[in-house]
Amino acid sequence: MPGTATDPIDEPASPARASGKPAPAAKTAKPSTAAARLARLGLRRPVDLVLHLPLRYEDETTLEPIGEAIRRAGLGLAAQVEGDVISNEVTFRPRRQLVVKIADETGELTLRFLNFYGSQTRQMAEGTRLRVRGEIRGGFFGAEMVHPTVRPVVADEALPDRLTPVYPATAGISQAYLRRAIGGALSRTPMPETLPQPVLRGPLAQLKLPPLIDSLRLLHNPPPQESEAALADRSHPAWVRIKFDELLAQQISLRRSQAARREKNAPSMPRRDDGLLTRFLAALPFRLTGAQQRVVEEIAADMTRPHPMHRLLQGDVGSGKTIVAALAACQAIDAGYQAALMAPTEILAEQHYRKLSAWLEPLGVPVAWLAGSLKTKAKREAVARAESGEAKLVIGTHALIQDGVRFANLGLAVVDEQHRFGVAQRLALRGKAGEGEPSAAPDKVPHQLMMSATPIPRTLAMTYYADLDVSVIDELPPGRTPIVTRLVNDARRDEVIERVHHAAAEGRQVYWVCPLIEESEALQLQTAVETCETLVAALPDLRVGLVHGRLPPAEKAAVMDDFSANRLQVLVATTVIEVGVDVPNASLMVIEHAERFGLAQLHQLRGRVGRGSAESVCLLMYQAPLSPTARERLATMRETTDGFEIARRDLQIRGPGEFLGARQSGEAMLRFADLETDAWLVEYAQEAAELMLARFPEAVESHLTRWLGGREHFLKA
Ligand code: ADP
Ligand code: MG
Repeated sequence: MPGTATDPIDEPASPARASGKPAPAAKTAKPSTAAARLARLGLRRPVDLVLHLPLRYEDETTLEPIGEAIRRAGLGLAAQVEGDVISNEVTFRPRRQLVVKIADETGELTLRFLNFYGSQTRQMAEGTRLRVRGEIRGGFFGAEMVHPTVRPVVADEALPDRLTPVYPATAGISQAYLRRAIGGALSRTPMPETLPQPVLRGPLAQLKLPPLIDSLRLLHNPPPQESEAALADRSHPAWVRIKFDELLAQQISLRRSQAARREKNAPSMPRRDDGLLTRFLAALPFRLTGAQQRVVEEIAADMTRPHPMHRLLQGDVGSGKTIVAALAACQAIDAGYQAALMAPTEILAEQHYRKLSAWLEPLGVPVAWLAGSLKTKAKREAVARAESGEAKLVIGTHALIQDGVRFANLGLAVVDEQHRFGVAQRLALRGKAGEGEPSAAPDKVPHQLMMSATPIPRTLAMTYYADLDVSVIDELPPGRTPIVTRLVNDARRDEVIERVHHAAAEGRQVYWVCPLIEESEALQLQTAVETCETLVAALPDLRVGLVHGRLPPAEKAAVMDDFSANRLQVLVATTVIEVGVDVPNASLMVIEHAERFGLAQLHQLRGRVGRGSAESVCLLMYQAPLSPTARERLATMRETTDGFEIARRDLQIRGPGEFLGARQSGEAMLRFADLETDAWLVEYAQEAAELMLARFPEAVESHLTRWLGGREHFLKA
């Protein structure tokens, strides 16, 4: 009976079973562990195996005479030869190893195995004919292969006529096993075409896509005459077909989740002219910039609709996103709902809390603060205030999305620095609505506003973030002077310290960021403490504070407080100040070992200054010699302060995979398509997705089932 695409995986047919003989008992005893291992690779259904495509290939289709292979040695190329074993011994000099010599008419070759089993010794007994594959080098014993792939063969055994696939694997699964399992699935699983002819011949005609099944067969078993380069760089038409189908699944799925969201209900929150919003705006000490006014209007319009807002607010560091979030919260509160604001670090969340409660409590809005570091009693109180609906605005860290936190009627969920959260976390906050009192309609989901200073490059916006509406603040508040960035060799540290002194003498404040030491948090802490001591000693007339991740939250808050109030002139800090900290009087930023930081991080750090009217300076201290990419990063920082330009170059230097970060791409849907090289395919996929959704619903279903299985929800954040 042929398997269907959604059956669970069964054991691959072993050669014995394939030829009709009963399977040996030992083979049938293990299927569950093998299935579990395959599941670790995400291979649960036969169709998953069929879509598990090779990383690369080995060419085992030809044999070389040993003599010739030896003459070609040293080029770093793999060779495949065959010969009879003429000697086989375990030697102990220079160390214990198995040394096997094979020969054909043209020469002799030594095979060396440093770790080996007894069974290998027997497998390569004298007189056996071996087919071996590996790289030949000149060694201790003359021409040799170390740890070659070895297989006993009968003389004149046929060579494979296809390239041998090498699959992504995991511990406990051999290539041979995967090849058998995949080969079996490929022959048993029907893979009917999911792209309707009118789509293939219509919008996709130019692509000349080959049929999927042909592409799969070719990629699993390419004939040797196929261009190895096109297979390797995945530009081969068979690869294009696969990548297209994958992108299509993603585009369809994005559109569907967008449509599903539009179907959902959210509280409509029409803006009132006589409410909190108006009083808040009147009380603000500054006027909104044009860009802020525009995005406030966009958000307000979304929140008026009875469907959930799903909007990303993008604005460079310092562009004034917080006030926009506060205005959105006012609109929700005016309409009788609660708002929540979640930030990725406690320092940032607390700063939001202070600022927003200072703005809103005088207007009679109860604001609650919820963070992991709160004492049990305080935490319980905050949770109770959220649950009863007494607190109209709840601000906090990840603590907001923990079990046991419920809202009476959450109408707006704001996530600051959204790229620092995982998909699941963002979903969780939205899921907190209306679990409390019956006053909240259970079928309603809150509006969602995400904020980020890290702009999303176009290709990512078209794929991962296609289901987001985007508002951009493209203007900084007035009166800011641009930040001047200088690169300073570490050797000139004394001059830097002098500069700090000078800035403080003029009444300005200074951040001094300690080096990032990724390998060791303890070492990083130690460095921060030492840096602080050095600065205290070098600047006896200044007050120097230290803030780092290990500090208890209350102390952290006290130090930040002192710095905000100008009781400290210099703040020595680890990267805990990376996001969001806002002290306008600080105008000098020193970053030590700037070469160790990523571009996005440097941009965030630098954004801590340039927030007031004084000219701000950022000194990037580096230790020579610089690696080429570090040089490129630092040059970018010196040349531009534009977050969009920095993100563009960052993408260029790192590629989209890393840009997205493990948290977002870990379960990501694109295994084959590469957003850099395959961006051109995305537009075709968009067009095909629209057409299929409009006219071919059945094809949509089978395509999604094939490609996504159960992973669809990762798109919906
Ligand atoms: P970010 O977009 O990086 O989150 P913030 O919201 O922290 O920026 O704003 C940076 C600083 O600019 C804050 O001190 C804020 O009060 C101030 N600010 C925001 N909007 C304006 C404005 N329209 N005019 C003057 N200052 C503003
Ligand atoms: Mg901010």
